[in-house]
Amino acid sequence: MNLIWLQRLTCSGNTHSLLSSEDANLVFEEFEVLFHPSFSVESEEEVIKKVLKKGKLNILVVEGAINKEDDIVKKLCKIADYVIAVGSCAVYGNLPALKDKDVSGLQFRFKEKGGILGKSFISRKGYPVINLSGCPANPEWITGTLLKIKSKRKLNLDELGRPKEYYNSLAHWGCSRNEFFEWKVEAKSLGKEKGCLFYHFGCRGPLTHSTCNVILWNGVNSKTRAGTPCFGCTEYDFPRENLWETKQYAGIPAELPLGVSKRGYIMVSGMAKMFAPERLKNED
Ligand code: SF4
Repeated sequence: MNLIWLQRLTCSGNTHSLLSSEDANLVFEEFEVLFHPSFSVESEEEVIKKVLKKGKLNILVVEGAINKEDDIVKKLCKIADYVIAVGSCAVYGNLPALKDKDVSGLQFRFKEKGGILGKSFISRKGYPVINLSGCPANPEWITGTLLKIKSKRKLNLDELGRPKEYYNSLAHWGCSRNEFFEWKVEAKSLGKEKGCLFYHFGCRGPLTHSTCNVILWNGVNSKTRAGTPCFGCTEYDFPRENLWETKQYAGIPAELPLGVSKRGYIMVSGMAKMFAPERLKNED
């Protein structure tokens, strides 16, 4: 299978994510990479000209937000069997779209379906844009999706076009701080191993669809394991202001874990805090 990886308005974070992964070689061994801006000797223009002439492309990967006037991207999407948006800029528009109304993701602009390709876009193999959101996306989500395509297995996507196997649970799942969350014991400061980061430090783990704490980054780490909150970077409303703070009203977080009512939260968290084991409270 051949593949083109294009970059548009991007910090290259997803390329870095992939190249930092132990599985990066897989992409170059399993696919004929016709173009990637960091590796190709030929210019993007030359490669695209040849591909458009042949009218055949297996996989197009786009990294970065896109301007609505970008006809090259649109033309390639039309001939590609599969189109993948990698990273939250290519998926939702993200930061570049906040600054420019003519910029968006491939098939979404924040939560609104459409983007530069339109709501009804379907690639040659019958999929909408396959969205791998994240700032950046976990490298295993990238390699796993590519290899699944290569082995012709079916991709199950959620309503935002994201593979369910990577996005249908929450970043909170598998976090090493779960016991602290349950007993409402907050971390004393950032960078510490113990304590939950939800109550004061802005952690979005209980509101964010991602498998960051199940499929660890390079098998070892995640934001919360490193002592910094989950910033919710896989969701359309990223980035937000004050990423390291939990907005509160009368001591109650303004946004509660998905599916939890305010009443339920007050009842459960009050009890939990009261009866929290001393061994947890004393941890640094
Ligand atoms: S630090 Fe975040 S992800 Fe971890 S338990 Fe607390 S709220 Fe959940």
